[in-house]
Amino acid sequence: MVTATDYGVRINLRQEEDNSYDIIIANGLLSKISDDLKQRKLGNRFALVTDDNVSVLYGQSLESRLNEDGIPTRRFVFQAGEQNKKLRVCEDLMNEMSSNGFGRDSAIIALGGGVVGDLAGLMATIFNRGVPYVQIPTTLVSQADSSIGGKTGVDTEFGKNLVGSFKQPKVVYIDPLTIKTLPPAEYVSGLAETVKHGVIQDAVFLSYLKNNRREVLGMNDEVLLHLAKTNCRIKGNVVEKDPHEKGLRRILNLGHTIGHAVEKLSNYKLLHGHCVARGIMPALRIAHQVTGFPINELESIEELFKYFQLPVIIPENIENDDIIKLTTLDKKAAKGQARYCLPIQLGQMAEFDGQYATYVDESIVRQALDASR
Ligand code: NAD
Ligand code: MG
Repeated sequence: MVTATDYGVRINLRQEEDNSYDIIIANGLLSKISDDLKQRKLGNRFALVTDDNVSVLYGQSLESRLNEDGIPTRRFVFQAGEQNKKLRVCEDLMNEMSSNGFGRDSAIIALGGGVVGDLAGLMATIFNRGVPYVQIPTTLVSQADSSIGGKTGVDTEFGKNLVGSFKQPKVVYIDPLTIKTLPPAEYVSGLAETVKHGVIQDAVFLSYLKNNRREVLGMNDEVLLHLAKTNCRIKGNVVEKDPHEKGLRRILNLGHTIGHAVEKLSNYKLLHGHCVARGIMPALRIAHQVTGFPINELESIEELFKYFQLPVIIPENIENDDIIKLTTLDKKAAKGQARYCLPIQLGQMAEFDGQYATYVDESIVRQALDASR
C-alpha cells in the first residue's frame, strides 16, 4: 500500500477566517448606502441582482443612485417566485454578467426577498470562484431571517434548498420602510418567524409584540424598525454561537418540523410563515406534554397569531399520517425518527442531553395534531 509518507507533499491550508459582518438598520437607508459601500472597496463594479417586482419598486432607483454616486452598477433581473430559485436561473444571470464584462473584480448586491438573497448568495459563491456580496433584504422574512446567517441555495426537482453553500455577506443594509409595499400576506408570513424568535429567545420582545399588536399589524415606522433590530439581534446571537447548524442553531427550527411537512403537503401553495404558525401550535402542545410548557403561554401565542391573521389550524385535507411520515425526513430526524425543538417557557428552549431537539412519542405528536384542528 502506498501512503502519503512514501511520496507525499502536504498542502498546508489550515487558516483562521474572520467572516464577521455588519447589519446596518435604519428607516430610509436604501437611498443612503453609497458612502458606506464605497468605503468597503468590495469590487470595481456591482451586479445588482433582483426580481422583477422589486426591480420596479426599488431596483431602478438604486441602480441610478449608485451610478450617480460613482459606483458602477448594472441590474440583473429575473422573474419573481420560488419556482425561479433554481440553478438554471443562476446560470442565466451569471452568463449575462460575463457577457457584460463582469469578472472576478466584481461584487454582487442581492436586493429583494429571501428568493433573491438565497439565489444571489449562491451566485456569489461560484461566480469566478467567488466574489463578495451584499444583502439588501426587502421582505420581513428576509429582514428577520434569510439575510442573516449566510445560508445560500436553490431548489432542485428533489426538494427545497438542496444545493447551496454557507457564504456570509460582507454587509447587510436593512431599510425597514421597504416592507410597506409588501402584500399583506407576505408581511404576516414574516410575523410568524418574528413571533418564533420571541418564543425561542426573548419573552420581553413577545410582550412588546403583544402590547403593540395594532401598530405591528399597521406597519408603524418605529415598530418596523424595532422588529428589524430585534429579529437581527436574536437570529444573529444564535448564528454567532453555531454558524454551521451543529447544535444551538436548531432552535430556529421551532415549529418547522410539522410546518415544513404541511407546507410540502400543500404543494407549496401555502406560505412558509403560515405553515410555521401552523407548526408552532402543535409544537407548543407537544412541549406542554414533554417539558411542561405552560398552557396559558400557549394560549397567548395562539391569540397573537390569530390577531396577526396567521392560521393556527392544520388544513382538513392534510392527514396526520402524511405529516408524521414527512417529519421523519426532516433534517433533524435521525434513525428514521422525527425530533422536535421545544420550549420550556416563553423565551427559553429546552436542552436534551446537550441537544436542542428530542424524540417524541408518536402518540403525543398525534394528540397535538388532533388538538390543532
Ligand atoms: P420572496 O423573495 O419570494 O418575496 C415574496 C414576494 O414579495 C415576491 O413576489 C417578491 O417579488 C415580493 N417583494 C419582495 N420585496 C418586496 C417589497 N418590498 N414590496 C413588494 N413586494 C416585494 O419570499 P421571502 O418570503 O422573502 O423569502 C422566502 C425564501 O427565503 C424561500 O426561498 C426560503 O427558502 C428562503 N429562506 C432562506 C433562509 C436562509 O437562511 N437563507 C431563511 C428563511 C427563508
Ligand atoms: Mg423558516
